[in-house]
Amino acid sequence: MCGIFAYVGEEQAAPILMEGLSALEYRGYDSAGLCVGGRCVRSVGAVEQLRARLGDTMLAGKSGIAHLRWATHGEPSEQNAHPHADCGQHVFVVHNGIIENFRELREKLAAAGHRFASETDSEVLARLIEAHRRAGADLEQAVCLALKDVRGTYGLAVSCAEEPGTIIAARMGAPIVVGMGERAHFVASDPSPILAHTKHVLYLEDGEVAVLTAKAHRVFSLDGTKVSRDVETIEWGVEQIQKSGFDHFMLKEIMEEPDVIENTIRGRLIPGQGRAKLGGLDSVAERLAKVKRIVVVGCGTAFYAGQVGEYMLEEFAGIPVEVEVGSEFRYRTPILEEGTMLLAISQSGETADTLEAIREAKRQGALTIGIVNTVGSTIARETDAGIYNHAGPEIGVASTKAFISQLTALALLTLFLGRQRTMSEAVGKRIANELLALPLKLEHILLQHDELCALALRYKDARDFLYIGRKYNYATAFEGALKLKEVSYLHAEGCGAGEMKHGPLAMIDKNFPTFAIALQDSVYEKMRSNIQEIKARRGPVVALATEGDTGLADLADDVVFVPPTLEMLSPILAVVPLQLFAYYISVARGLNVDRPRNLAKSVTVE
Ligand code: GLU
Repeated sequence: MCGIFAYVGEEQAAPILMEGLSALEYRGYDSAGLCVGGRCVRSVGAVEQLRARLGDTMLAGKSGIAHLRWATHGEPSEQNAHPHADCGQHVFVVHNGIIENFRELREKLAAAGHRFASETDSEVLARLIEAHRRAGADLEQAVCLALKDVRGTYGLAVSCAEEPGTIIAARMGAPIVVGMGERAHFVASDPSPILAHTKHVLYLEDGEVAVLTAKAHRVFSLDGTKVSRDVETIEWGVEQIQKSGFDHFMLKEIMEEPDVIENTIRGRLIPGQGRAKLGGLDSVAERLAKVKRIVVVGCGTAFYAGQVGEYMLEEFAGIPVEVEVGSEFRYRTPILEEGTMLLAISQSGETADTLEAIREAKRQGALTIGIVNTVGSTIARETDAGIYNHAGPEIGVASTKAFISQLTALALLTLFLGRQRTMSEAVGKRIANELLALPLKLEHILLQHDELCALALRYKDARDFLYIGRKYNYATAFEGALKLKEVSYLHAEGCGAGEMKHGPLAMIDKNFPTFAIALQDSVYEKMRSNIQEIKARRGPVVALATEGDTGLADLADDVVFVPPTLEMLSPILAVVPLQLFAYYISVARGLNVDRPRNLAKSVTVE
């Protein structure tokens, strides 16, 4: 959420900053702005609006800062758009995060004569830096002193009209990546805008500050201690963050799903032995063998992946599992007795609530494991060990391929932990072989995209939608509903099919369609009965069925098929038609699929 990009080098900064904002646009589109040579241009809306506003304006200068906002404090207006300046228009700040004590700081600063131009929490940063400069501090000292005054989270970049060759970046709870170019440095919220310039980056840690000029960089902690950090190389190519001919990132990423499964399992299966080989867990393998309970934490789609994981791990590894959303876990009093492991699932590896859950678990001495897509992200670094998804960058705000890879990683983890315990070689082999067969099956589902598009056209005017499933596809139903909500703004609800009669069935009438996941598995008959109950109330039903099942055609209004697979792996296939359905409904309703209203990627605020 929120995109920061900054440049200092030997070329004109404005075009580089604009191109960088375009690469980051999935992180926020409430407003956009940049500052070069002490001059700011800002606009409401996304990068295109800023480009239009910029027109032929020449912003001359070889360094600058830029921002895409996902508003937390103050509406999306031009006044609230970043960069924010000090009263004297010398110091400029772009900020991602929330300054929690901004009210008291604002009152103090106002009493000292500072005038505020916005309603944001971020503006106090510029005013604090100004106050410290007025008191005699140089820019670097003033930034550090200001950061000591604030409470909350920030990823920020600061520029100063009087020191045009310097950019200062800092991090506390919101990601900051520094790109190491040739005679240039970059600052960004994630590597995507940096990739066009360099693959060499270093990640700031909480409490660290970087001072950057074209030729030099210095990193130190807020107390002044010098930090030496290894430069890492990003493995993505720039083509992975482009649409490559697809209309939307969401569609491109759904179409990548067969490759995503291959990438998640590559080198990690020994099918002949029915085992998983997970290098990222080697260092903790002995501790894993002793784990007695697992608490899975995730938010949104990652939470639903965790719920599928709960069923896999309990059934095949025999370990009790609980799943919780990060924002709840961190504010209650979780009890992680000895032998409990915390498993954190996060695409970005920066999800603020999940990260706090990890920190709480570590405070209690629990082993922490991550399933994370973004290499080098905070969650990847702070967990004791983990499994990378290898799904490639996910740009679409509604998560699709990351979910598929999370489920695949959970199946690998189940195999790993199961074989450490009582899972037989035969069962292990069956799971391993079926994992290997999934990419082809998924390709087969994707071939039905025209049918799903036609189905979406039939249902695009519905106002509400219910998604039902049981057992392994209980969570899939919720994930299907979440996709529809996110990209189509329709009211959609997930519901355990068995729960219908305890309330939700009351909503059903001829205008309230249901998507029922009714695969030929251990709960098939129960699902059929639930569909009957809906049909008896005249509710339209789209059934998701196993290929070859002719028994649902009479019962449901529409049937979509997926190939058969093991029950535990079936959500990996079942969710794909639900993703495509949501995508095509959004397109049919004329909405901007990749930029759903009020949402943005990588939730770094609480
Ligand atoms: N809290 C700041 C604001 O509302 C920054 C939000 C963001 O991370 O985009 O402007």
